[in-house]
Amino acid sequence: MKMNKIRSAEIICVGTELLLGQIINTNAAWLARELSLLGIYSYYQTVVGDNAERLTDMLKTATGRSDLIILTGGLGPTQDDLTMATVAAFAGRPMLLHQESQEAIAARFQLMHQRHVPSNNWKQAMMPEGALVLPNKNGTAPGAMLTIPTSDNRAVTLVMLPGPPSEMQPMFSESVRPQLVKCTTTRLKHCFVRMIGIGESAAESRLLDLISSQTNPTVAPYAAEGEVMFRVTQSLGQDEKNNDKTAAVISEIQKRLGDHIYEIGTRSLPEVVKDLLTERGLTVSFAESCTGGMISAALTDIPGASTSFTGCMVAYDKQVKIQQLHVPETVIQDHGEVSEACARAMATGCRDVFNTTYSLAVTGLAGSSGGSAEKPVGLIWLAVAGPKEVVTRQLQLTGSRSRIRRVTVLQALDFLRRQVLT
Ligand code: ATP
Ligand code: MG
Repeated sequence: MKMNKIRSAEIICVGTELLLGQIINTNAAWLARELSLLGIYSYYQTVVGDNAERLTDMLKTATGRSDLIILTGGLGPTQDDLTMATVAAFAGRPMLLHQESQEAIAARFQLMHQRHVPSNNWKQAMMPEGALVLPNKNGTAPGAMLTIPTSDNRAVTLVMLPGPPSEMQPMFSESVRPQLVKCTTTRLKHCFVRMIGIGESAAESRLLDLISSQTNPTVAPYAAEGEVMFRVTQSLGQDEKNNDKTAAVISEIQKRLGDHIYEIGTRSLPEVVKDLLTERGLTVSFAESCTGGMISAALTDIPGASTSFTGCMVAYDKQVKIQQLHVPETVIQDHGEVSEACARAMATGCRDVFNTTYSLAVTGLAGSSGGSAEKPVGLIWLAVAGPKEVVTRQLQLTGSRSRIRRVTVLQALDFLRRQVLT
């Protein structure tokens, strides 16, 4: 398949479910990121329902303004899955039976121990004439790429991908990306600098000159909850693979904000903490009150967490703190459950119970009710008990209950990370 030079792209997600808000359009976000990594500018994203007429309208508009159009969804076997046929009709190409896809569909049903292939499914082997068929290793619907001429003598490439992300993403990575690489002249190299313990505007003001003066690479803030992230992006020519200009900019950011940076790269905070503990052969346990197990969940999300994480005690109720973590009753009587003394006792007790190098304890008021003038909603106490000492930290967070809990998880993991590093 001969393809055109691609300067601009757009994404069309097909599905009435998307329009009704029944599913979130993660495909558009994922594809947009992939295109930006390839140095392809995407200027529009559209959602259209399972309706041939409106999709055709969309195709008219999109082919009039973009060189590459990526469509997702509507490749399934049912009546409302009409993307492939609509694109074929729009392009004036007949739908032809694609032998290999037919065989792949039969093989897939055999694998699922279903000898009979529902007649609907054969529809998925019908492909527009002249299309490059993209095999689907994770489902029955193959995708397709088709380059067609436009009325103003350009060429435009249409890519049809399945809706389920588990099928769409590998198909894009394995079959579409290699084709697109051949059609672009630049590539964007991204590097993320992730930090915690500093507000977004404070961080931005310290990098203002870099943000406003740099043209290549560029420095831009990136939205993230509970942390601050900057993206350093360099535009690289086709044969410029080794000309890395991001390093100098990153070292300047490090010079200015180094104390807050926990990662230069793509790892999340839980990943960084898990790697740090594993590298040093350390173990950790958690005593969680207001986070109810969220810190443990964040760490166990990471494969290989078992090398360092042993367990947690969700000590939500006072009696659990006293009986399971051996927090002295007098501590709670004198200081309350949300107090430095209680956090300290929870961490020490947890470390004894789980016999780990470190224990992290969290107790706080996530809201929405239960606050007082002395102890407002958002007051959180963190404690880390380690081999040498117990250290504590107070947070005063704002926002909804769920935001307070999510930010507490990040702050708590960062506090642990800092203790391990000192
Ligand atoms: P199927 O063969 O499953 O019918 P399809 O290619 O026809 O796949 P759709 O019917 O449009 O795709 O969507 C199937 C499912 O894929 C949706 O229920 C949803 O879970 C997921 N999906 C579709 N589009 C998107 C999207 N834009 N973002 C995230 N998920 C999506
Ligand atoms: Mg479908």
